[in-house]
Amino acid sequence: SNSIVSKQQSAIIFDGISDGYDVIKYKTIQTPTVENSNEMVIKNSYSGINFIEAYFRKGIYPCELPYLPGREASGIVAEVGKDVKNFQIGDKVAYLHGETMAEFTKIKETDPIIKLSKDASDENLKLYAAGLLQSLTAITLINEAHEVKKGEYVLVYAAAGGVGLLLDQLLKMKGAHTIAVCSTKEKLELAKANGAEFSINSKEENVVQRVMEITNNKGVDVAYDSIGKATFEDTLAALKLKGSLVSFGNASGPVPPLLINRLSPKNLKLVRPQLYGYITNPEDWEKYSKEFQSLVDSGKLNIKIFKTYPLKDYKIAVQELEGRKTTGKLVLKN
Ligand code: NDP
Repeated sequence: SNSIVSKQQSAIIFDGISDGYDVIKYKTIQTPTVENSNEMVIKNSYSGINFIEAYFRKGIYPCELPYLPGREASGIVAEVGKDVKNFQIGDKVAYLHGETMAEFTKIKETDPIIKLSKDASDENLKLYAAGLLQSLTAITLINEAHEVKKGEYVLVYAAAGGVGLLLDQLLKMKGAHTIAVCSTKEKLELAKANGAEFSINSKEENVVQRVMEITNNKGVDVAYDSIGKATFEDTLAALKLKGSLVSFGNASGPVPPLLINRLSPKNLKLVRPQLYGYITNPEDWEKYSKEFQSLVDSGKLNIKIFKTYPLKDYKIAVQELEGRKTTGKLVLKN
């Protein structure tokens, strides 16, 4: 129906569930096209890579096969349904939606979308695809999951990762004392350059012992734990009386079930958030997407891109990400 959208496209497909990488395929598939009047098709410029895709591939989170991964992208509106009011063909956008690791993605006008200016550069499109999901995650984790106050001690794991480097910067802006945990000296130096105050090398040091030294045996006010299974017990031990444990990822595997009375010796709070719950209401999306835009456009928040890979190299990219070889954000050029 529309000449801008070709009939066939390249995409990444998972054709099985596996801890390994062999189920990741680069394929030619049908291009999506508008079927309902409120839909539009985006020609993707860049797509952000996120750790969550590993959970779908490994079966930690359920998904239907064949699975087209992706959570965020930027690009250009290529086709619009007749009831779409606020977007036209040619508009530049950044958005949160599944199935972005393809040349084209079909979304709805009501999805979380940011309209960029007509003269947004290719570099802007890349920055928005790189920063959107992880910045919104970091912003909501420190304002909603636990509202971080000036002077609080905050434990951050994977502090040189995509979300981690953003947490370091945003926590510094709040005047918190960030204790970064990373697996290498180089990663810890990067976390410090981004605002972390203290560093713990998880390969060489005892995390709980170091936290107690740094906090005068009190423990931290809040811990942001995206590692899950491998760190949960240490994280509980590192919290201070009335502290908060924000468990927001499973990089090492899911946290095993626990008895809630594990929280009572220190009157702890435990929260297990996902970004979408903080941006479901249009008002929340408006507020947080505006905050993201102003932080990025003003240069106050630095989005560190580790590498930009061609779409076909997604498999290589995630081997590096899951192999703990990366810092900052990995981006695909669709
Ligand atoms: P990162 O760039 O942070 O990469 C993951 C990092 O985790 C690694 O670099 C590594 O850092 C650390 N890590 C520790 N143990 C392991 C392990 N066993 N296997 C692999 N990595 C390990 O990824 P993202 O920024 O994309 O995501 C960070 C975390 O945040 C993920 O857990 C992700 O699922 C979560 N997340 C949650 C969201 C939510 O809404 N709840 C939204 C977005 C992200 P090091 O070597 O220094 O330990």
